[in-house]
Amino acid sequence: MKRFKVTVLAAVMAAALAVTACRVQPKPDPDQTMTPAETKASAMAIETSALESSSETSTSETTMGTDTVKESKSEKLPGQDFDVREELFKLRNDVSVKQVLVIRCEEGTKGHAMYLVKETGEDGNTNWRIARECDAYIGLNGPGKTKEGDTKTPLGVFGVRTAFGIKSNPGTKLVYTAITPDTYACGCEKYYNRIIDSKVTGHKCTDGEQMYYYSPEYNYGLATDYNPNNEYGKGSAIFIHCMGVKPYTGGCVAIPEDDMRYIIQDCEPSMKIIIQKF
Ligand SMILES: [Zn+2]
Repeated sequence: MKRFKVTVLAAVMAAALAVTACRVQPKPDPDQTMTPAETKASAMAIETSALESSSETSTSETTMGTDTVKESKSEKLPGQDFDVREELFKLRNDVSVKQVLVIRCEEGTKGHAMYLVKETGEDGNTNWRIARECDAYIGLNGPGKTKEGDTKTPLGVFGVRTAFGIKSNPGTKLVYTAITPDTYACGCEKYYNRIIDSKVTGHKCTDGEQMYYYSPEYNYGLATDYNPNNEYGKGSAIFIHCMGVKPYTGGCVAIPEDDMRYIIQDCEPSMKIIIQKF
């Protein structure tokens, strides 16, 4: 390859989303939303640090060998068996994908989010630019979701199903599901892992979230395609949504509302979400 600027790759690695079944706690306080990290943060500095971190991991893996976790530093969690840099490289050459939201899971329930936008230089080479970055919170029990109720955030590369919000559509290229008192993130077997309107479906949701009452968390959000076949029990309602007062989620990823709105306004349906722990 020519001179592919692997600019943001590293940064991406850090981002980690908490995507468990978003059993987010109600009564959030918008004012508690964390201040969005400076979008101006030095991309180079981030890249450097990210690459350094990934290098450590790679070295460790190489040294230790196999897929089996034997590293003292970073044990492989469910869904973690992919290389963020490789994924970003692949996506950089995938003309259908123009944005990637990278969530890096850090310590405990803390995370960092980076919204990357693809740019093409005069030489025709593509590159990822950090358009936005901010703090994030993930699931109460950290990353590595495998099942409903584990309050963990899934790791991996995901697509987006829909944008949604209690607030009105801020202008998005995605399908925007307006959250009303009849909207449920269903956890019942019948409509598992789907956002439904109880009046339209006639389904009385006995195991799900009445999303309208989770504000500011669901003021705006994106539904990931975690558990794409809606396999019952594997985990549901893994969203990227706004932060509330709690410094953790039920498995989703929470970011400041300003950043959430920005991403919804800017992204396209083909956007990918990478949730990574390293
Ligand atoms: Zn239901």
